[in-house]
Amino acid sequence: MNKVIIIGAGIAGLATAIRLRNKGYNVEVFEANSYTGGKISSFNISQYRFDAGPSLFTLPHLVDELFTLCNENPRNYFNYKQKDIHCNYFWNDGKTLSAFSDKKKYLKEIKDQLDVDPDTVEKYLIKSKKKFDLTKEIFLEKSLHKYKTYFNKNVIKSILSIYNLDLFTSLNRVNEKELNEQHLVQLYNRYATYNGSSPYETPGIMTLIQHLESHYGTWIPDGGMVNIAKSITSLLLNNGVKIHLNEKVDEIILDNNMSNGIRVNGKIYNADYIISNMDIYYTYNFLLKNYNIPNNLEDIERSSSAIIFYWGIKKLFKQLELHNIFFSSNYRSEFEAIFQNGSLYNDPTIYINVTSKDIPNDAPEGSENWFVMVNAPSDSDHNWDLIVQDLRKNIIHKLNKMLGVNLEDLIEVEKIYTPKTIEHTTHSYLGSLYGTSSNSRLSAFLRHPNFHKKVKNLYFCGGSVHPGGGIPLCLMSAKIVSDQFSKVNNE
Ligand SMILES: Cc1cc2nc3c(=O)[nH]c(=O)nc-3n(C[C@H](O)[C@H](O)[C@H](O)COP(=O)(O)OP(=O)(O)OC[C@H]3O[C@@H](n4cnc5c(N)ncnc54)[C@H](O)[C@@H]3O)c2cc1C
Repeated sequence: MNKVIIIGAGIAGLATAIRLRNKGYNVEVFEANSYTGGKISSFNISQYRFDAGPSLFTLPHLVDELFTLCNENPRNYFNYKQKDIHCNYFWNDGKTLSAFSDKKKYLKEIKDQLDVDPDTVEKYLIKSKKKFDLTKEIFLEKSLHKYKTYFNKNVIKSILSIYNLDLFTSLNRVNEKELNEQHLVQLYNRYATYNGSSPYETPGIMTLIQHLESHYGTWIPDGGMVNIAKSITSLLLNNGVKIHLNEKVDEIILDNNMSNGIRVNGKIYNADYIISNMDIYYTYNFLLKNYNIPNNLEDIERSSSAIIFYWGIKKLFKQLELHNIFFSSNYRSEFEAIFQNGSLYNDPTIYINVTSKDIPNDAPEGSENWFVMVNAPSDSDHNWDLIVQDLRKNIIHKLNKMLGVNLEDLIEVEKIYTPKTIEHTTHSYLGSLYGTSSNSRLSAFLRHPNFHKKVKNLYFCGGSVHPGGGIPLCLMSAKIVSDQFSKVNNE
C-alpha cells in the first residue's frame, strides 16, 4: 500500500522522494533525462566548467534539512561557503556598488556610492522582514488550497495585516516611495526577476524576496550548483530510492478518479501514489489526456525565460565577483519589451556569473568562465537565431564600454541557450525559468495546488506549482507535498 512514483528528478522531485522515503514509503523516481537535477545541471567545454541553470544559492539550510532528516551529516555529502559580497552592480553612468553581506559595510557602501542615508535603507529592510515573517507560513510553507491552512493564529494575523503588505501597489512604486534614489530603486526592483516577473507589475509584497538574500545570505556550493542535485541524488541512492534515468513517462494511468500507475515505453509501473515534478502544463497535456487543463493554466502568464551565453574568457577581471549585474539605462522599457511586446530591449540588463572566482578549477589559469544571462520573454515562435545575433552584438558593445576591453578577442569557447533550448533540455513549458509569473496580486492563488482536486492520490511539486519557482521554493513544495502523507511502517 505504500509505493510512490515520482515523475521527474528536478530538485523538488528529489526532495519529495527523500522526504517520503524517510516516512517509510517505497519510492521510485522516473526521469526523462540521463541525469538528475532537471534545471540544475552543468557541462564542460574544453577546460571550462559551467553551471547550465541556476547560479544563485540561498537558504542552504533547506538542503541540509534533507540530510539531517535521514540522520546523515550533510557535510559528508555537500559543502558550501558564504559569500562576503552578494553582487557587484554597474550602471551606464559609471556608478558601481558592491552589495556586502555585512550590513554595516553595505550601508556605508550605499552612503559612499549613492549618497543615500543608511536609515532609509535600514527601514526598508526592516519592513521587508516584517512582510516575510507575516506571510511565509501562508504563502510559502503551507498549501494555500486547504481550508485548515486558514484556521491558524499566524495566518489570521497575516490576513488582518493585509494593508501593510503592499499588495495593492507595484514593487517599483514601493521602492520609489521608500528609497527615492534611482540606482537603489533599480537595484531593489531587480528582485522581481528572482521569480521571473516585472517590478512594474509584481505587487509590493515582493520586497520580501530581497530579505532571503540580505538576511539569510548568499552561498556557493563546493564544485558548483550542480552539486546540490548530485548530493541529494547520492542521499536517495544510499537510502534505497530507485532512480530510473532515460525513462520518459508517457501516461499517468487513471481508474475511477484514482491513479494506479504510470506507463513508460509501453511498460506499466503500478503505485499507490503518483507525484509529478514535471511542468504542470505538460503533466496535463501529455500525461493526463482525459482531464481538461484547468482554465487558468492556459491563460496564466508564464515567467520570463532567458538567453544565456556561456563564454570561456582568456582574462581575469578584478572588478567582477561571483555575481555581477550591468544595468540597463531604461529598466521600465526593458520589462515592457519582455512582458508586453514579447521582445528584448536593445540595452538589456546583463547578469554575469563567474564561478571560477570561487572555484578556480572551473577555468584554465588566467581565464574565467562567464555565464552571461539576459532576461527574455518565454517562447512564442520567436526567431531566436536572429535575436541572439543582435543581442550578442549589444552585450559585447555594452561590456566593452563598461569594462574597457575588446571582448570578442577574449572569448575562447562559447555555447548559447535560448528559451527554446531551455524548454527542450528541461521540459519547461515555453522555456520559462520559474513556472508562472507573479505579475498579479492573485498569482499565488492562481498557481496550481500541490494536489489534484479530483484524482485523490495524485500530487504535484516543483517550480510550476505552489509556492512557485526557484530552488528554495521548490524545496518548500516538496515539504508541502510530503506533509500530506502520514508516516508508514513499510519494512
Ligand atoms: C537558466 C536558469 C537560471 C535560474 N536561476 C536560478 C537561480 O539563480 N536560483 C534559483 O534558486 N533558481 C533559479 N532558477 C530556477 C530553478 O532552477 C528552478 O525553479 C528549479 O530548479 C526547478 O526545479 P523543479 O523541481 O521544478 O524541476 P525541474 O528542474 O524543472 O525538473 C523537472 C524534471 O522533470 C523531468 N521530466 C519532465 N517530463 C518528464 C517525463 N514525461 N518523464 C520523466 N521525467 C520528466 C525533466 O527532465 C526534469 O528533469 C533558474 C532556472 C534556469 C533555467
